[in-house]
Amino acid sequence: MPNSKYVFVTGGVTSSLGKGIISASLAKLLQARGLRTTIQKFDPYINVDPGTLNPYEHGECYVTDDGAETDLDLGHYERFLNVKTSQANNVTTGRIYQSVIEKERRGDFLGKTVQVIPHITNEIKARMQLLGKGDEHDVVITEIGGTVGDIESLPYIEAVRQLRWELGRENCVVIHLTLVPFLSAAKELKTKPTQHSVKTLMESGINADVLVCRTEHELSDDLRKKLALFCNVEQEAVIQSIDAETIYDVPILMHEEGLDQVVMKRLGIELDNQPDLTQWQNFLKRHKNPKSSVTIGLIGKYVELQDSYKSILESFVHAGAANEVEVKVVPIHSSYLEEKDVQEKIANLDGILVAPGFGERGIEGKINAIKYVREHQIPFFGICLGMQMAVIEYARNVLQLLAANSVEMDADTPHPVISLMDEQRNIIQKGGTMRLGAWTCAIEKDTLLHKVYQNDRIEERHRHRYEFNDAYYEQYQAHGMIASGVNPETQLVEAIELPAHPWFVGVQYHPEYSSTVANPHPLFVGFVNACNRYAQSKN
Ligand code: GLN
Repeated sequence: MPNSKYVFVTGGVTSSLGKGIISASLAKLLQARGLRTTIQKFDPYINVDPGTLNPYEHGECYVTDDGAETDLDLGHYERFLNVKTSQANNVTTGRIYQSVIEKERRGDFLGKTVQVIPHITNEIKARMQLLGKGDEHDVVITEIGGTVGDIESLPYIEAVRQLRWELGRENCVVIHLTLVPFLSAAKELKTKPTQHSVKTLMESGINADVLVCRTEHELSDDLRKKLALFCNVEQEAVIQSIDAETIYDVPILMHEEGLDQVVMKRLGIELDNQPDLTQWQNFLKRHKNPKSSVTIGLIGKYVELQDSYKSILESFVHAGAANEVEVKVVPIHSSYLEEKDVQEKIANLDGILVAPGFGERGIEGKINAIKYVREHQIPFFGICLGMQMAVIEYARNVLQLLAANSVEMDADTPHPVISLMDEQRNIIQKGGTMRLGAWTCAIEKDTLLHKVYQNDRIEERHRHRYEFNDAYYEQYQAHGMIASGVNPETQLVEAIELPAHPWFVGVQYHPEYSSTVANPHPLFVGFVNACNRYAQSKN
C-alpha cells in the first residue's frame, strides 16, 4: 500500500488549456477538505530546468525557497495552496536523463544496456513517488506537461501506465484535460477532438478516469452522455471547465461540477465534509467588489506575453483584493520608451512597477520612466533589475555620475554602481548558477520597508548575478537614497528607498514569488495602497 494516493493530470488536443490551474484547483479542494495535498509538474523538454529559457519560450521562470528555477505552474500551486514547493516538485526530461547518465557513468547498471524502458521510466516513476513516500502527503497530484501524442511525452505516459498497474487503480487516478471547441459556423460544440485524444491515450494503455473539458459554452446532458460513452468514462466523471472570469473562480466551479467528489470516490477516500473555502470566498468577494481603482504601469521588455510576469500580475490581484482596489495593469514596453514619450505614457498612471530582467535591451526606457516618477512623486516599485535601474538613474541624474551603469550592460563603465557579485566572478556555466533562493534580509528601523513588513528580519527569494556596489553607498546616502534592507552576513544591499518620496522602493529580491491568496505580499499590498492614495489625491 503506498502512503499517498496519486492523481495524474494529462492534457489533450492543444496546449494552454490550463492544466496547472485545474491541478491547483483540485489540490485546493482536497486541501480544503483536510487532505494534505501537494502538486508536482513533469516537463517533457530536454532543458535541465527552465532557468536558461527565454520568457518568450516558456513564460516566467519561478524560483522556490530552495533556489530551484522552475516552471511557472509551481507559482500557481503555491498561490492556491499557500504551501511551499521545491526542486522536487518540478522535474524535466533533461534532469531525468542527467541522473540516469550519471548512474550509468558510475557503473550502477552493471553492464546492462541503458534504455528508455526500463531505465528512464524507472527514474520517472521514482521521481513521481518521491513526495508520496514519506508520511507528509495524503494526495500527490502530478501534472504532465505537453500534450498526449507528443513524442517527448511518451515515457511519462508509459511511467503512469506502469505505476497504475503497480500501485493499483484504487490508488491512482488519471484526469485528462481536453478541449471541446465551439464551431461558430455550425453553432455547435464538437466532441471529436476529445474522442481522438482519449483514443491516443488508450493506445498507450491508459483509460482516463475523469475528463475535464475546457469549453466556452455549457455542455448539455446529451453531450456529456456522448463524451462518456465514446471516451469510456462514467457520466459523472465528465467535468465541464467553462471559461471563468478569473482563475480564482476555478476551484469553486470545479467543486460545483463535482471534480473533488469524483476523484475521491475513485481513490476510495471517504470524507463526508465539504471543502472549507471561507477564506477563499472572502478573497473573491473583495476581488470582485472593489471600492476604487488604480492604473499601474508594468514596465518590462517581455510585456506582450502575459506569462512573462505571471507572478507579478497575480501579486497585484492579491494586493488589490487586500486593499479592495481594482488594479488595472498597463503593460509598457521598455524598448520603446524614449524620453520624449515618457510624459505621455506615464503622467496619468497611479504608479509604476519596473520589472526584473536581463541584458541591455530596454534599460534606457526603464531609466527614463524612473526619472519621471521620482521627480513627480508617483509611487515606484522596482524589482531586481528594476531596483538596479533605480540605482543607475539616481547615479546619473542626482549624483551626476553621468556614465554610471551596471557592468552587465557596460563592462567598462567608469562608475559601476551595479557590479558583479564576488561569488559570481569565476562562473562560466549559465544554468543554475545565479544567486538563487531564499536569503535573510535585515530591515532598518524607521524605514518605509520596516513599516511595510512590520518586521526586523525577513526571508525573500533571489535570482541575480549583479548587486549594488557598496563603494558608492556613502554618496547615495548623502544624496537621499538609503539602503533599507541588507543581508546580515554579507552586507549585500537588498532594498533601497527614497525617504523624501511618498513611495519609492527597489528590492534586489523577488517578492512576487511568495505572494499567495492567503498571504498577499506586504510590499505589493503597500504599493497598491500608495497608488490608491496617490490616485485619490489627484481627484
Ligand atoms: N540581470 C540582473 C542580475 O542578474 C537582474 C536579474 C533579475 O532581474 N532577475 O543581477
